[in-house]
Amino acid sequence: MKTHTSTITDGRLSSADWLASPNYNHRPQNMAIDTIVIHNISLPPDEFKQTDKNDLHYVKAFFTNALDWEAHPYFKTIKGVEVSAHLFIERDGNITQFVNFADRAWHAGQSSYLGREAVNDFSIGIEMEGSDFQGFTEAQYHALAQSIAAIYQAYPATKNHLTGHSDIAPVRKTDPGEFFDWVKLRKMVSELV
Ligand SMILES: [Zn+2]
Repeated sequence: MKTHTSTITDGRLSSADWLASPNYNHRPQNMAIDTIVIHNISLPPDEFKQTDKNDLHYVKAFFTNALDWEAHPYFKTIKGVEVSAHLFIERDGNITQFVNFADRAWHAGQSSYLGREAVNDFSIGIEMEGSDFQGFTEAQYHALAQSIAAIYQAYPATKNHLTGHSDIAPVRKTDPGEFFDWVKLRKMVSELV
């Protein structure tokens, strides 16, 4: 479990491994980053820590357009989909960053937050390895809280806008799900900032 303080320099989180995704582009000019969106993902669904034949985590493969669509029947259903997140937090708390915070990651899809469309434009997307049907690990909450504290430091406008994918795309999305403990997270973050 990483407990040291994280910092953000030039759009990168110090406690994260860097793995560049091609699935990003520039944010609209002068767009302030003021929102954090929490997601969950697992590949195949509800299975964790699964890797491909090169030992690459399936989610990391997916976010870098390297997922072998033949490796599992479910993968055919997401074939060719190009998505990313800024951060991915695994069950053991390991953090990977795919897109510089200054750039627009493709995590929210069609979405709306407080009347503003295209949430990718102004948000940071964080994927928790998990599903709607299982709780998250202590190590993940710690890593997430540390990451959010660092984001608050670098992008103070995000302090009032911590939300979930299901809140910005309620018809399409259910993540991070009812097992995600917002009260716990907010308490942990408040102890760090
Ligand atoms: Zn999501």
